[in-house]
Amino acid sequence: MTPTPRLPGDDHVHSQWSWDTTAGDMNAACARAVRLGLPSIAFTEHVDHTAWAVDDVAALPQDWTRHGVVEGTLRPPPFDVEGYLASVERCRARYPSLTVLTGVELGEPHWHAPAVSALLSSGSFARVLASVHSAPVAAGHVDSSQHYAHVPPAAVVEGYLDEVARLVTSYDDFQVLAHLDYPLRAWPQHVPFDAHDFGEHYRHVLTLLRERGKVLEVNTRLPMPRILLQWWHELGGEAISFASDAHRPELVASGFRDAVAMAELVGFRAPADPLAFWHR
Ligand SMILES: [Zn+2]
Ligand SMILES: [Zn+2]
Repeated sequence: MTPTPRLPGDDHVHSQWSWDTTAGDMNAACARAVRLGLPSIAFTEHVDHTAWAVDDVAALPQDWTRHGVVEGTLRPPPFDVEGYLASVERCRARYPSLTVLTGVELGEPHWHAPAVSALLSSGSFARVLASVHSAPVAAGHVDSSQHYAHVPPAAVVEGYLDEVARLVTSYDDFQVLAHLDYPLRAWPQHVPFDAHDFGEHYRHVLTLLRERGKVLEVNTRLPMPRILLQWWHELGGEAISFASDAHRPELVASGFRDAVAMAELVGFRAPADPLAFWHR
């Protein structure tokens, strides 16, 4: 009987210290990671400074709007670093067999560089992810999922990838690019999606990332289109991370077996050090 291969650490998990979840629970997430035999779990909490224009509160998840939408604007509340770090310490004491890594997920950090660098210099985070979530509309910015109400689907994806390219070329203080496939979470079901239609955009972003030595995240909220990982490998991408992006404990490492199988097929390998990133 072949032994079950060890799963990689989950490098992108949210807990109660992220503003957009009511189900987050750091303690329960650690307990699940231990049960699954993960070597590590990284709590990469949201650090968001982009305000969103909201014309229909009911169109957004309640977890997002519970902090209030004032005059049609949703301003994410600040990240409580001290409370978060104390919570990490309690989990480290309680789960000594698990490596609990600190982290942040920086939303559009290139738009908010002074605020973000103040946060990064106030503490050291083991995992620093950079993300694009927002898209421009006439009234300001909205989450990418809401952008589909304003422009055709292809324009949502192209606009997203253009913004990721701007992030990567104008901001360097991060390790991992999170969810390159983020807008696909809301891609209309009746429209077939083919990543090749956006090949030039994807390959441009992946080239920029490789030139800067960044890590590409395999986010398992959706099965990532395999061609994206294949392009990353062909273009010389060195490393990948595995990310459930769980906002509730039961989703930690969700989809990891399929993601690991895909990464191996494409040519990425587990590192000797279980806390290191997978590499080509
Ligand atoms: Zn995100
Ligand atoms: Zn996330």
